[in-house]
Parts: sequence; structure tokens; C-alpha cells
Amino acid sequence: MALKLFHLISFIFLIFLLLVPIGHAKRNTPSDKKSSPFDFVKKLKGCHKGNNTKGVHELKAYLEKFGYLEYLNKTHANDDDFDETLESAIKTYQENYHIKPTGLIDTETIAKMTTPRCGVPDIVNGTNYMQPHKRKHDPSSSSIRTVSHYSFFRGNPRWPPTKTHITYRLSSNFPTNAVDPVARAFQKWDSATHFSFSRAGNNQNADLVIAFHRGNHGDGAPFDGPGGTLAHAFAPTDGRFHYDADEPWSNGAVANAFDLETVAVHEIGHLLGLGHSSVEAAIMYARIAPGTTKNLHADDIEGIRALYNR
Ligand SMILES: [Zn+2]
Ligand SMILES: [Zn+2]
Repeated sequence: MALKLFHLISFIFLIFLLLVPIGHAKRNTPSDKKSSPFDFVKKLKGCHKGNNTKGVHELKAYLEKFGYLEYLNKTHANDDDFDETLESAIKTYQENYHIKPTGLIDTETIAKMTTPRCGVPDIVNGTNYMQPHKRKHDPSSSSIRTVSHYSFFRGNPRWPPTKTHITYRLSSNFPTNAVDPVARAFQKWDSATHFSFSRAGNNQNADLVIAFHRGNHGDGAPFDGPGGTLAHAFAPTDGRFHYDADEPWSNGAVANAFDLETVAVHEIGHLLGLGHSSVEAAIMYARIAPGTTKNLHADDIEGIRALYNR
């Protein structure tokens, strides 16, 4: 009897030993904490040239996606070597976002890189339009030299000068709560520029088409789930603007959500021909924090006027 009891206790103890690690492992899985596709950068804190650290290849892919890096030899693109090319790409990134260009993955760089952003690259075909450029001095204006930070796409694509009225269409599955924010975003550009906008019917032809998509949706720029890239749009006169359907969207500033109108004002800027700006307050700045709203800034208006000579 005593032996039986001993066996029973041993058995229970064994079960207990087996269960504990499982329970422990379960508690450690970050299932309750949402991770962003850009969170891998946090693991690279302190990394610099010469390191070979697991995850460096993800950083290379990130910088390649946003135009900072292009390896002709694809082996280097996929390895974890923190090489000179990567260091130089990080320095350019740091300059664009007003961080000391150390080439080191420091706290400030991590904070910028992990903030959700627009999917449109900052650098197109190797030309960095985000670098501050001095505008040609206009003798009729004041003698103060102005430094502008807005940018255009390569080759300055724009709508023809005679095209001042632009129509837009919403995709058939467009969420009803996003209709008004988009209309208000167009109203902002309407008031600030020579353009006017109107919404076309669902089956009518329109210059611009706005839609919600998730993941890979056939335009060569797949979305990445919650966080990461929020939306993207194409240069004139393509007309496509896509929201990432996997994001928590909001109407106004709501904690942990992204404002539909703010993102629309930004993406319409691309549809009209603006690239990203290095001015943090400008609507064309590439990053947006959740729970915030933003408006057109003098830098954005100056950019569109310069592009269309208005
Ligand atoms: Zn953008
Ligand atoms: Zn798309």
C-alpha cells in the first residue's frame, strides 16, 4: 500500500515537473503584446560596422525597401555582415531624420526606425531628395535665403498644367467611416493649391482610385500587417493610393490608432507629386505616431507651388 502511494506521489510529481515548464513557456510568449514589423531594429541596439549580428540582414532589407541601400551582389544583401555599405546607408538615414550621422544603431535611430511610416521610399533611384536643398534665390522676394525640405519624385512627375480639376473614386469595399476623412483631406489640398477635387461615382472613371488592401496586393509593394508601413501612393499621374487594411484606423486622434484624414493628406501629397520632407512638422514627413493628427505645413505648400510654378 505504501509502495502504491509512493508510486502515485511520484507520478503526480512527474506530471507536475512536466507541466511547469509548459506553463512557464506559455507565460513567456508575447502573444498579448502586439509586435511591429519594424521591432527587429531594437535587437540591433549598439551594432556598428564590423559586427556580424543575427538580424542585420533584416536591417539591410528595411533600408533597401525605403531606398537607402542597394546591393549589386545579393549575397551581401542577405547576410548579417555590418559592412561599410550598410554603415553609409545608416548615416544617410540619420541625416535625413536629423540624427547625428554616426552609422551606429543608437537609441535615437531605433526610435525613428520603429515608428510606423509611409511605404513610399525616401530615396528613389539613388537620388536622395530629402537632403536639404537651397532654393534658387528669387530676387523679388526678401533677401533671406530660404532652405526648403520638401522633395519631388525623380524626374519631377506632375499633372499637366491645364489639369486643375482632379476626380477620385473609392474602391467598392471602401469602409464607410473612411469616406468623410478622405473628403476632408482633399478639401485641405483644395484650399491650399490651384487644384480642386470631386468624388466620382463607384463605376465612373476617375483620375485617382483609393482602396484598402492587406498584405501582398499585386502592386509590388506588399503591406506588412499591423504597424510598419501604413499606406502608400504613386507619383503622378498613376493615381493609386492604398491604405493598409490591417492597421487600427481612427477618425481623429485616438490612442494606438492612426488618423485616416492625416494619412490621406500625406498620400494625396504623393498623388500630386510631392516626395518626403525632412521637416518633422510637414505632412510629407514619412513617419506618423499613433494617436496624433497633422495638418498641411508651409513646407508642403511651398513644395507644391514650386512643382507647379504657381
Ligand atoms: Zn509618404
Ligand atoms: Zn498598394
